[in-house]
Amino acid sequence: MTLTRYSISRDDLTSLLPDQPRYRVDQVWKGLFQELSTPGEMTNLPKDLRARLEADLPTALSPVTESVSDRGDTVKFLWELDGGSRIETVLMLYRDRATVCVSTQAGCAMACGFCATGQAGFTRHLTDGEIVEQVVLASRRAKSHGRRVSNVVYMGMGEPLANEEPVWRSLVRLHDDCGLSARHLTVSTVGIVPGIRKLAERPMPVNLAVSLHAANDALRDALVPINKRYPIADLMVACSEYLEAKGRRVSFEWAMIDQVNDRPSDAVELAALCRSLRLPAHVNLIPLNPTPGYPVRGSSRAHVHAFRDQLESMGVNATVRQNRGTEIAAACGQLAAGQPVRISRAPGDHEPDVLD
Ligand code: SAH
Repeated sequence: MTLTRYSISRDDLTSLLPDQPRYRVDQVWKGLFQELSTPGEMTNLPKDLRARLEADLPTALSPVTESVSDRGDTVKFLWELDGGSRIETVLMLYRDRATVCVSTQAGCAMACGFCATGQAGFTRHLTDGEIVEQVVLASRRAKSHGRRVSNVVYMGMGEPLANEEPVWRSLVRLHDDCGLSARHLTVSTVGIVPGIRKLAERPMPVNLAVSLHAANDALRDALVPINKRYPIADLMVACSEYLEAKGRRVSFEWAMIDQVNDRPSDAVELAALCRSLRLPAHVNLIPLNPTPGYPVRGSSRAHVHAFRDQLESMGVNATVRQNRGTEIAAACGQLAAGQPVRISRAPGDHEPDVLD
């Protein structure tokens, strides 16, 4: 594997700079990971060295398009990877924080029928450098708006715990080198039990989100096929171990699907699972976003709020997620990288969306 700009170690960098004073390594490292500069922008380096580093540290992501939401606060990036596959990254600017949603695989093998990435199938794993570069490039974009990225969520294309080592290395880099706190890093999983256990053994207490979507095995087998391998009882044991290891509350994601998992009985079952953990799980409710391959609709806004109220009445904290970027197919479950649901627009162009 060739070195790329954001996958290098300090040792790699040191060996690239044999003719340079020692402090250069720190300068370049700080430039890359803290100041988010390209080598060419590092004006504290001699010009010939800047040019040499541009060549020796190639980027891993080539920009294809950017789509900007109507209000300009959500940006979706489409990148091409080495080998030609494509992935997407989403930057969300909120009043009090800025969040990057990264992809961990090109496509996904988990085959959840309601998810556009799952519908597309698996292409390949991402490297740690490719994951980190998504954050750096989105952070450069945020910086151009005078904003600093505070949170990273592993909720883009792919299953992070099916690509464990690169995902872990990227988390370490974001924490140690980019200075993001573990509390602001969230790994979302479909529920790979051994992967949750492994993450629990790792040193950093990152947030764990589990895409639950159903609270009994019959329904979850149908919605999230990996449930047949790791059924709910085993998943709850792993969540409980994570909680004990990290002392951090686990959250459950629940995409609300009209008349499928939004009935009062679903709320009762879900509340029981949340409360089976020593610190009850927090629920994130997301009205199902439309995808080309899944005909069932999302629950109405009013119904999502009623479901939330029912959970709260049973002592479970639940948040209705804002749906960012549905009009540019940037919302949860809509990332399909080049199989556009809608036509994307050029950055800064705020014309109303046009349907395909
Ligand atoms: N594979 C990981 C990471 C993907 S995160 C995981 O499953 O957690 C993306 C989140 O969006 C997951 O919770 C996923 O279940 C959810 N999702 C998928 N399709 C969706 C859709 N059409 N509408 C709303 N949420 C969806």
